[in-house]
Amino acid sequence: MVTRIAVIPGDGIGVEVTREAVRVLEAAAEVYGLALEMTHFDWGAEKYLREGVALPEGAVAMLQQNYDAILAGAFGDPRIPDHRHAREILLGLRVQLDLFMNLRPVKLLDERLTPLKGRTPEDIDFVIVRENTEGAYVDIGGVLRKGTPEEVAIQEEIATRRGTERIVVAAFEYARRHGRRRVTLVDKSNVLRYGHGLWQRVFWEVAQRYPEIEATHQYVDAMALLMVQDPASCDVIVTTNMFGDILSDLGAALIGGLGLAPSGNIHPGRISLFEPVHGTAPTLAGKNVANPMGAILTAAMLLDYVGAEEAARAIERAVVAAVRAGEVTRDLGGSLSTEEVGRTLAARVRAHAW
Ligand code: ATP
Repeated sequence: MVTRIAVIPGDGIGVEVTREAVRVLEAAAEVYGLALEMTHFDWGAEKYLREGVALPEGAVAMLQQNYDAILAGAFGDPRIPDHRHAREILLGLRVQLDLFMNLRPVKLLDERLTPLKGRTPEDIDFVIVRENTEGAYVDIGGVLRKGTPEEVAIQEEIATRRGTERIVVAAFEYARRHGRRRVTLVDKSNVLRYGHGLWQRVFWEVAQRYPEIEATHQYVDAMALLMVQDPASCDVIVTTNMFGDILSDLGAALIGGLGLAPSGNIHPGRISLFEPVHGTAPTLAGKNVANPMGAILTAAMLLDYVGAEEAARAIERAVVAAVRAGEVTRDLGGSLSTEEVGRTLAARVRAHAW
């Protein structure tokens, strides 16, 4: 069976790290006999500045019809200060493809990478399942008497039963499929009583359908503390758009920083979009110094999603081995270029060298 992947490198270091992710995907496809068909799309700042087009008309339907997954780099350009094209492309895809699940694994590859003293890869291995379509980021609100001392600002947070239920179900399904034992709801239902009260009701209802999985709850402030003090107690965390946003950056810090963190924007069973957590890092762009491991681990997540688990594990193992061998870019204390890391990892995958 052919797996069709739309590759959208985007801007800045997105272009460089995606090139290496594709290189490693090609190696994995060769070794594991995967029929990957990768098509590149040049959506990004250059095209936007040239043609005034961010996400071409009909693009979403075309992707839905012809592709199984999307591998994206990063979007943003100093020449477009309001990030209009980036918003149109990424938000457009997230909203129109209804990618309601933002999956952010927090997995330590080597103990040298964490700022936490004495923690090992066994201690830090959990996932954050962030709701991606509702919450505080829906842009509902307004201001009154703007610019005066009496100014009032209102910013709404929404939670729907449908939206809450599908993300909670997705978290439990993820746990079941990946052999995870615990799902923890993270909210602030003690003060945000209505919206997060709905999360509470839905969570405990859904949890009953998964008797083999332990369901627990933490307030978000307690969870921030726990992630640092006792990360081994974290397994699958399901939470709102804003809390997921914040906690997953804390998570990225626990495993070595932005250059290593992968993510998926998922609608289970449908075409989904995988992108590294980092942005375009304009100061590094074009210098062949950015760390491609986040993008490469993102490619592994994509393979996992399309059912090529063995190839996904191979890529992860190759990254671990490269980190242990010091074959890393300068953000991780090494001296390899973006391309050298990509080539090393492709070679490791080909040779099963881990
Ligand atoms: P954007 O506006 O697109 O989000 P940004 O520079 O504000 O770009 P990031 O791209 O997320 O935000 O990067 C923030 C900083 O983190 C960078 O300046 C860089 O120092 C570091 N960084 C991010 N990604 C990488 C990477 N892949 N390799 C090395 N360093 C990185």
